[in-house]
Amino acid sequence: MLTVLVAVLVALAVAAVVVAASPTRDCRRCGGKRVIRTALTRRTRPCPRCHATGRHYRRGAVLVHRVIQAVQAERRNRKEK
Ligand SMILES: [Zn+2]
Repeated sequence: MLTVLVAVLVALAVAAVVVAASPTRDCRRCGGKRVIRTALTRRTRPCPRCHATGRHYRRGAVLVHRVIQAVQAERRNRKEK
């Protein structure tokens, strides 16, 4: 049981480091191409999932970066005093 808990914690830590280092990834819907092909015709249209940026945030990226921003703001405040 303890081994499973440690494994989960390590996996979470690794995921947090990956997200902090690289918060975005290619959009899974359009594969980073920014457009998708419509099913019936051969026309393309902007990808609705990534709003035609081709990238989207990894799961937890917003949370991790909020924590990083909060820590940096706290450090800045301490230096000023
Ligand atoms: Zn997309």
